[in-house]
Amino acid sequence: MADRDNQISNQHGDADHSGEARPFPTWFTASKYTHRIAIEILQHGPISRVALARRFNLTQGAVSRITNDLTHLGVIREAGTLPQADEPGRQDGRKHSSSSVGRPQQALVIRREAKTFIGINLHGGTALATATDLACRPVGRSHSHHIRQRSPGQVVRMLSDLTQDCVREISQAGLPSPSGLAISLGGRAERDRVVTYAPFLHWSEPVDLATQMESTCDLPCLVFNDLDALALYEGWFGEGIGLDRFALITMGSGIGYALSERGMPVSSPDEGFGLIGHQLVDPDGPVCYLGHRGCAQCLTTGSLAEQYSHAIGQAAGFDKLVKDLEEDMPQAETLLNLTGYRLGVLIALVANVALPDKVLVGGETSYLMKRCIESVRKGTASFRHSQMVEVPVKIIDGDWLRWAQAPAARAIARYLQGSEEADKPE
Ligand SMILES: [Zn+2]
Repeated sequence: MADRDNQISNQHGDADHSGEARPFPTWFTASKYTHRIAIEILQHGPISRVALARRFNLTQGAVSRITNDLTHLGVIREAGTLPQADEPGRQDGRKHSSSSVGRPQQALVIRREAKTFIGINLHGGTALATATDLACRPVGRSHSHHIRQRSPGQVVRMLSDLTQDCVREISQAGLPSPSGLAISLGGRAERDRVVTYAPFLHWSEPVDLATQMESTCDLPCLVFNDLDALALYEGWFGEGIGLDRFALITMGSGIGYALSERGMPVSSPDEGFGLIGHQLVDPDGPVCYLGHRGCAQCLTTGSLAEQYSHAIGQAAGFDKLVKDLEEDMPQAETLLNLTGYRLGVLIALVANVALPDKVLVGGETSYLMKRCIESVRKGTASFRHSQMVEVPVKIIDGDWLRWAQAPAARAIARYLQGSEEADKPE
């Protein structure tokens, strides 16, 4: 026991107030299996020790020691019993060992009320903020600000106000003060701290947004690309749980793409620059602002409004297209089905190159694709061999709040994963 106490230490409260960039805190430092089992319980709980032992190929004794440590640290707790040694949420078809079948098992869950986080997304002209618990579930109301003034100082002040709103929500819910703040934006952030590219903010020089927020709010802060954050959210808390590899395409005012491997977004020096936004999807499609004919920009809200205006012979906004779809207007339906087909072609490209287990389609206009899923499938099938398996596609709700939960999810991941040293084998 003394040995284990030496190996595991609770890191909370070690924040450095010297003014230097402080490392984002981790909850505790322990063996890689301790971190991985805490994450497994977060994502798949309630879960039994027997199921954990099977998933990690560990003895039940080893799992018991680890879960005792996690209980001692206040990370997990027991929550009643599971009827059998089943694995909720995953059917891997493996047989249970005879000693475990039929015996009630203690259910382990993460103590999601033990920690809170704040996530803020900067998206076009709006900043949206939410507080979350450790399971990335929203705490209290979300808060938003229209971004009117865009100098770094003004943006930091606006973000600080939103942070304070979220701190109040956490306090009113009777939960512990936030362990960290995370911001996501359509652009790039070096070392998860310094914004080097964010076209909608018109910043001409790199801005160390994390350090400025830390000194203003006295909270550890991280800054992420918004698509990578969303991919992590889906991998840890959403539609990508348990998948080895999935791709995420978002539709809205732009076209976004991210790839996730074992729950973590694949990072690239090119992220934030719109990876697939100009790939060809229809040689007969409209011309984009860069002069491409039929590139993926034809899936954006701006292009859809233009295409619809052309189809009906009068200027129309995207809202008019949505309204006409609700009234089953034939020209609106035709454009929707064409758009679905073009999205399907883009999905085929992603599927054929990245070989994901599943393609998730999100973003603010993705909900429309549920109405034309057959056209989406036809578009994908047209670029796939007939004997290939159908690409599993999931249209996820374009819930704005998810964009704010997403950076909080990345902060939670950092907080639970521990440091590099802790990842070395025991
Ligand atoms: Zn283009």
